Amino acid sequence: MEVPFGKINRRDFMKYCATTAAVLGLSELEFVTKVSEVLAGAASKPPVIWLQGQDCAGCSISFAGALNPPIASMLLDRVSVRYHEAIMAASGHVAEAALKETVQAGGFVLCVEGAIPTKDDRFCMVGGRPFREAVEEAAAKAAAIIAVGACATYGGIPAAGPTGAVGVTKIIKDKPVINLSTCPVHCDHLIGTVLYYLTTSKVPPLDKLGRPKMYFGELVHDNCRRRSYFDNEMFLTDWNDPAQKNWCLYQKGCKGPDTYADCPVRRWNDGLNFCIDCGAGCMGCSEPEFYAGMSPLYTAESERSRDIMARKKAGLIAPVKEEKV
Ligand code: SF4
Repeated sequence: MEVPFGKINRRDFMKYCATTAAVLGLSELEFVTKVSEVLAGAASKPPVIWLQGQDCAGCSISFAGALNPPIASMLLDRVSVRYHEAIMAASGHVAEAALKETVQAGGFVLCVEGAIPTKDDRFCMVGGRPFREAVEEAAAKAAAIIAVGACATYGGIPAAGPTGAVGVTKIIKDKPVINLSTCPVHCDHLIGTVLYYLTTSKVPPLDKLGRPKMYFGELVHDNCRRRSYFDNEMFLTDWNDPAQKNWCLYQKGCKGPDTYADCPVRRWNDGLNFCIDCGAGCMGCSEPEFYAGMSPLYTAESERSRDIMARKKAGLIAPVKEEKV
């Protein structure tokens, strides 16, 4: 088997495959072999269509930041990206023709980035036609549909505006949609989900909001290293006070107690850091209420924050068993 990614040896490659299989919940040897086949390019390259609607392209940028495996390897060797407005070399009629041809052939992975306006199609037109229409047409022939990022899953920031922006599941109701709901998408979540599909030809187990349980199974709050300060009601109120440096960020609007995501464990930028460890409260970007329902973001004045404290006072948020700090 040819070992991909050029610079890593076979031993490291197999270790990576085993880790990836374990993260995907596919710990049997059979699946390690399958993951290695997919990553080594032995399996056929599935076509991918990536559509962008009401978005900032942040999810594309997050995906482009992937280091394990590197984006070039993922794009050029493992999947066949037929249409992606931000990275494709083609443009205009040539690009639209490639999209049409791939949709007609069917059997592709459809990634949707960005929300879809429902008040008026003219709020988001791509290639001279409504974005909604492009999503509906592609979804009808797709083998798997992935809503990439907060906007495509539940509407995100565009849903706070006047366009009636919604996520893919509000438009596509007759097929399962995998929701990868952080803002932006975590590149590990996206690559892991695609790998899961390529390895098993199945959609990964999802929670009731359509998110893969392997990434969204636990609360940010339950893995936060500031958790013992929350339990002891030691809340940071002054960012300039060194004594409060590691205290709980609830008073600064942290929505960690209501947010399911693996950020404290997986972290971001190749495991470097994440919002709370940078000193900013969790914004709840993986939840359907983000953005409008979570704001104001950096104070404890939102309805969500008041609800969190009411539940704490009522003893409905149990203290952690182990000291995390
Ligand atoms: Fe961590 Fe936020 Fe929970 Fe405080 S409220 S413990 S900062 S997740």
